[in-house]
Amino acid sequence: MKIIESPAEMQRLADAARLRGDKIALVPTMGYLHEGHLSLMREGRRRASVLAVSLFVNPTQFGPNEDLAAYPRDMQRDCRLMESIPVDLLFAPQAQAMYPPGAQTWVEVTEVTQGMCGASRPGHFRGVTTVVAKLFNIVKPHIALFGAKDYQQLCAVRQMVRDLNFDVEIVPMPTVREHDGLAMSSRNAYLSPAEREKALSLSRALEAARACYVQGERNPYALAQRAREELGRDNAVSVEYVEVREATTLKEIERIDGPAVIAVAARVGRTRLIDNIVLEPSSN
Ligand code: AMP
Repeated sequence: MKIIESPAEMQRLADAARLRGDKIALVPTMGYLHEGHLSLMREGRRRASVLAVSLFVNPTQFGPNEDLAAYPRDMQRDCRLMESIPVDLLFAPQAQAMYPPGAQTWVEVTEVTQGMCGASRPGHFRGVTTVVAKLFNIVKPHIALFGAKDYQQLCAVRQMVRDLNFDVEIVPMPTVREHDGLAMSSRNAYLSPAEREKALSLSRALEAARACYVQGERNPYALAQRAREELGRDNAVSVEYVEVREATTLKEIERIDGPAVIAVAARVGRTRLIDNIVLEPSSN
């Protein structure tokens, strides 16, 4: 695995790969890898001849009171895991290389980013879409893989690709869960054993709502209410939002008559966790 820090060097390698006729897959990450990240890498490996991973804890997507400094990092372990895939190119720039002084351009998706995580994390998605646009220009992938775990992020990236004519195919990947249902996340490392147990209420709440949906409930508020009930069983879990939205546009809906997503964000202790499931008409 070749490790590249410089955006210009990465662009040279990407150009050379494209000239050779290689197909480049990119998996953008913030590191502290888990099986969710690795599932994206394996699929990228399968679909392309060059597998590139970016590892960058992107400062512009963190708010002033968020966990940028505390975000878990373990470069050595990450490298071992990536070698096992194997990953060909690791792009791991320093923040100054990605954001040299004087930068003043942002990429902002205006509607899909309203509400849900966009409400409690102002500027977060602007940071995400800006860094993803930069990564696309630096790594020049043919395809890029994103997890459905970060559902609103996936929708924002897809919208950006459509709106700005990026010549990149976005490959969505299912959420990878622990054996007991907890969605894998680098932030799970913050949880104490007791909090880890309480964190299960997110996936349980989504499954309770799905059960109502399968029984025929099509009122989004009733489904959200069912999920809230489940989350409310434990007062150590503080709910930020439970929302049911149209699955692609993330528009609010009065009744479910097509694919919809039910998404939740909650704090367990000081750790903010998110999860979601897509309700497909065929799962009835
Ligand atoms: P992150 O390092 O958290 O920014 O995540 C990098 C990529 O991995 C994003 O596309 C995430 O959606 C994806 N990802 C994170 N957790 C999971 C998971 N449990 N299952 C599938 N993909 C995931």
